[in-house]
Amino acid sequence: AQLDTLDLIVLVILLAGTAAYFTKGTYWGIPKDPYAGAYSLANGTKAGKTRNILEKMDESEKNCVVFYGSQTGTAEDYASRLAKEGSQRFGLKTMVADLEDYDYDNLDTFPEDKLAMFVLATYGEGEPTDNAVDFYEFVTSQDVSFSSGATGDEKPLEKLKFIAFGLGNNTYEHYNSMVRRVNDALIKLGATRIGKAGEGDDGAGTMEEDFLAWKEPMWAELTEKMGLEEREAVYEPVFSITEREDLDEHADEVYLGEPNKNHLEGNQKGPYNSHNPYIAPIAESREIFTVKDRNCLHMEIDVKGSNLTYTTGDHIAVWPTNAGREVDRFINILGLGEKRHKVISVKGLDPTAKVPFPTPTTYDAAIRYHMEICGAVSRQFISSLAPFAPDDKSKAEMTRLGNDKDYFSEKVSSQYLNIAQVLERVNSSTPWTSIPFSIMIEGIHKIQPRYYSISSSSLVQKDKISITAVVEEIRIPGSENIVKGVTTNYLLALKQKQHGDPNPDPHGLTYAITGPRNKYDGIHVPVHVRHSNFKLPSDPSKPIIMVGPGSGVAPFRGFIQERAAQAQAGENVGQTILFYGCRRASEDYLYKEEWEHYKQILGNKFTLITAFSREGPMKVYVQHRLQENAALVNELLEKEKANFYVCGDAANMARAVSDTLGKIISEHRGVSAEKGEEIVKGMRSSNQYQEDVW
Ligand code: FAD
Repeated sequence: AQLDTLDLIVLVILLAGTAAYFTKGTYWGIPKDPYAGAYSLANGTKAGKTRNILEKMDESEKNCVVFYGSQTGTAEDYASRLAKEGSQRFGLKTMVADLEDYDYDNLDTFPEDKLAMFVLATYGEGEPTDNAVDFYEFVTSQDVSFSSGATGDEKPLEKLKFIAFGLGNNTYEHYNSMVRRVNDALIKLGATRIGKAGEGDDGAGTMEEDFLAWKEPMWAELTEKMGLEEREAVYEPVFSITEREDLDEHADEVYLGEPNKNHLEGNQKGPYNSHNPYIAPIAESREIFTVKDRNCLHMEIDVKGSNLTYTTGDHIAVWPTNAGREVDRFINILGLGEKRHKVISVKGLDPTAKVPFPTPTTYDAAIRYHMEICGAVSRQFISSLAPFAPDDKSKAEMTRLGNDKDYFSEKVSSQYLNIAQVLERVNSSTPWTSIPFSIMIEGIHKIQPRYYSISSSSLVQKDKISITAVVEEIRIPGSENIVKGVTTNYLLALKQKQHGDPNPDPHGLTYAITGPRNKYDGIHVPVHVRHSNFKLPSDPSKPIIMVGPGSGVAPFRGFIQERAAQAQAGENVGQTILFYGCRRASEDYLYKEEWEHYKQILGNKFTLITAFSREGPMKVYVQHRLQENAALVNELLEKEKANFYVCGDAANMARAVSDTLGKIISEHRGVSAEKGEEIVKGMRSSNQYQEDVW
């Protein structure tokens, strides 16, 4: 699923200045210099920098901060866009800031003449994103206390006005819970919201349009209340790009895709995390579908000696490299072909601007390793590129795409075009050389590592992390565009290479497999591990029921591998039931032989129940099998307090399984349907019901 999948919910909160400025509005008026409202990307809080946001804003002469809590970059992107608009259209002096870079215990002293914004994403079951955990816990804490000594009882944020927008996914139980909870918490602390608390819905696929529809009335209300004046937005670059005549791409200090200095210097060192990947050898890789036109990869990633640890049920993040075909497309349409390997230094034109990749680097390396050039395109971004079109006709087309929601949907989003493809379709005969490279860095997400549910047991193979990844390929009806998932096709190419396949790159995507300066040679891939709460019961004798169709079976392979090892070690292992589904037994039946092997070890403790959706006249899914086994499922849950796990597709499957379970409980315990649902909810809160969905 997109947006990235998760449960990713973004939320934006603008915290506005105070009543004085509501009436006066002078501070917010247009600066004398019409281009003075500088916008910047982020915070610059590297080691040694302040964690005091007020100090930072003073230092950099800002009156508006947009914080974000982001897991996959969408929240960060929305924050940047709000900041930029605030600056260019309304003359605010904005900056963007990562929530984890600042402290919050001085929010009660946030001055009346400044404005703060927060962009937060929710993760999983209504949880904050990793970088927003501290903020969330702080503002929602029962006994919140500020450094001034003020407590929650004293309405310490009385001076604070805020505006909120959340991005959620209605297929999740806790839809937009972050924006709702943070909103409530701020109001409880005395803050006042301006405008509606907007909510974007990724589940309905309307996130972007929800955001666009929300922000216009928000700006209107903000301008009115704060006496801002709108002016014609003129693009101001955030970054300066200097082409370095003095540096050759082979110079030691030039980053050719290395994620940080240690990597550049050739001595990667831990701790490895979301800022610092481990370049891990792929010990083994193989295809596990048995059908020609679809691929699923099993890979064993060797983390020995890295100090990376995992426990069964955790996630591994894979850092992708863009396909050469798409890098070329992007470079060519911008007319950068001849200077693709030219060394560039990128600097923030504003002290708070954070360059999203290390430099000096080359155009090629920045685009290949750091920019999400294949991702979905926003209407707003198209509008912002219109002034730089190569001719009037293209400019008119870009403007129309930017303004006309239906036209944009027909021509761009329904076709899943990436940015270079959009530009190509608008005008492929003249390169778009007037587009400032800065606007591309500002408007395109930083490339995101993709998560995979680890499909091995840490008890059995602590140094080898396995993943089970379906290679993403979307064919759009009525379009020749075929969307190739960035990471999974890269992994596929790695697997082909490892097997010395004469066709290492089945789709002509031309990856730079050996990485920057050949540092990934010998089949390596950059990774880090993310710990999760999706866990086996600590007592192996407790029964478990797992529902994992498709690649959702990944963590359950790890669970069963672990239980088999425990049984072999003489432990008493409880009932282990797996509901697995795929299209056909002959095509995409994952780990068929392995299940037989585990069955031999676990005997009647292991039951595999399959649903093949395309084998019979009727489509049969895991939830149907669950229903057929209702009595057993209910008994294990009720009498033996079995744990219930669901993994895989969030949009449809997880919801259907949850609903089915509610129904089963209602039928078998003789309670109402509502009560059945309530019991499932209770199981979720007590962790008897766990989900790992995307
Ligand atoms: P991407 O390039 O990221 O594309 C993904 C989707 O984005 C596309 O299918 C499409 O819907 C959309 N998209 C891409 N480009 C465009 C465009 N230009 N316009 C519009 N839409 C576009 N996957 C597994 O196979 N196995 C697992 O065990 C697994 N575990 C996961 C666990 C977690 C916690 C999470 C969050 C995800 C997990 N996933 C798993 C999914 C995985 O992280 C990736 O999302 C998936 O492999 C696709 O990645 P990709 O880079 O190949 O595709």
